[in-house]
Amino acid sequence: GTLSVASILAETANRRPDSPAIHFYGNTISYGQLWDETRAYAGALRDRGIGRGDRVAMLVPNVPDFPRVYYAALSLGAIVVPIHLLFKAEEIAFVLKDSGADVLVAAAPLLAEAIPAAESAGVPLVTVLAPPPEAGGPAVPRLEAEAAASEPIERLVSMNPLEAATILYTSGTTGTPKGAVGSHLAVVEQVHCSLIDSFDMRTDDVIFGGLPLFHTFGQTAVMNIAFRRGASIILLPRFDPDEALALLVAHQATVFTAVPTMFVGMIQAASRTGERPPLRYAVSGGAALPVAVLEAFQQVYGAEVHEGYGLTETAPTVSFNSVYEPIRPGTVGRALWGVDIAIAEAEVEGRIEFAQAGALGEIVVRGHNLFKGYLGRADASAEAVVDGWFRTGDLGTYEDGIVTIVDRKKDMIVRNGYNVYPTEVEAVLSRHPDVAMAAVFGLAHDTHGQEVHAAVVALDGRELDSDELIAFCKERIAAYKYPRVVHLVDALPLGGSGKVLKRHLVDQFTVLQS
Ligand code: ATP
Repeated sequence: GTLSVASILAETANRRPDSPAIHFYGNTISYGQLWDETRAYAGALRDRGIGRGDRVAMLVPNVPDFPRVYYAALSLGAIVVPIHLLFKAEEIAFVLKDSGADVLVAAAPLLAEAIPAAESAGVPLVTVLAPPPEAGGPAVPRLEAEAAASEPIERLVSMNPLEAATILYTSGTTGTPKGAVGSHLAVVEQVHCSLIDSFDMRTDDVIFGGLPLFHTFGQTAVMNIAFRRGASIILLPRFDPDEALALLVAHQATVFTAVPTMFVGMIQAASRTGERPPLRYAVSGGAALPVAVLEAFQQVYGAEVHEGYGLTETAPTVSFNSVYEPIRPGTVGRALWGVDIAIAEAEVEGRIEFAQAGALGEIVVRGHNLFKGYLGRADASAEAVVDGWFRTGDLGTYEDGIVTIVDRKKDMIVRNGYNVYPTEVEAVLSRHPDVAMAAVFGLAHDTHGQEVHAAVVALDGRELDSDELIAFCKERIAAYKYPRVVHLVDALPLGGSGKVLKRHLVDQFTVLQS
């Protein structure tokens, strides 16, 4: 074998060629079949001149072509650059140029943005999911046709574990997207450590595949882990809770891995039908899961929810509530095996000063799972990694081996000199019986510095009242923390990975206020 992320699929296909790998709208694809198709795609990419160290950008939703293109590129020793599906032409062009892409593989439904992007970046474009031109398809080369005309690859390019496997752009809610370069070792170690140590994944598990695969969470905690184990994934290109529930039931899903907004959607969907999948457990990550949502999900689906914490720069999991011990709701569990966590009090002259045990500070992380730096951004990389420790930008505590996230540093609100952590206020709002989702954020205020605002979505068919919600919080948390303004909204702005975009709320309500 070789230490390549591609060996995750190749080895499982060798061992269990007939086991199901993917369920996709009535079709089931076996490991053997998926690997054969991947080898064929790899042959086509090789014939296009793609090899070790080249960059294969991909704009592909959660369809079987995602793993085909991903593992095809990796098996050649190339680096995959999955692009956010909601990006417009200009944003795609930025990623193509910034990453030095050698080819862009784009799904046909996304060609309207991909064509101008590839043109302006001067990057060759090839499409998947398109019918041939004679059947009305676009006049863009098709990877499938090229694969049919080339020899499939026979074996993986053997990699040095520290060579780059992925360039993942951080979602950019904090400014210009930066490409975090991840190694083969980071992904492979993640997969093995979380599998053995905390996930309890079985070959007959059926895993929900609605988390976007372009994002590190879906890529590793769903796809790579499932394929390493030989479990199967229900691929879902667009998350709709009712459709998701129907698919989970149809395929008798056993593991549900998602971001908190998806958990809220699934709780609501369950109120519209009595059918439930036989879930063994669920995994939440990507953003804080309010305890009220965790409890509601457990009650409705009869499956424990294991919350974890991770980032794009850490491939992604840092800590997790293992399935092998009782969960601790409101915490993100223990450090993943091989991941070193500490709490920083300050950074002084290129060194981290650690906080007292139990004290609140910035979470810093070390381990093989760390990224290699931001591509072409020595400044940002040096700021992010200090003396070997990656500064996560998240505030939390680490006590008795258990990590608790308080909030992102940048989301903290300072009202009259007091620190308010939105996650805490959101958890209180989520306990209200008529609230589906809440997002708390600070807006500039003349006398208080910042004021605490909340945007709240009601559960289906329920009515909310702003004053009552304010009173509900006032009864439960200190006077400086409760929201003074509650905006009732139909939906919260969500990013492509399903997380709430706080920045958008701040902009939206700042405009309304002025
Ligand atoms: P960008 O940095 O581009 O704005 P992002 O911060 O959402 O986007 P990701 O790498 O997708 O980038 O997410 C990492 C962040 O998600 C963490 O820094 C943390 O703030 C948050 N997060 C992840 N898991 C949890 C969790 N269980 N509880 C609270 N926050 C979490």
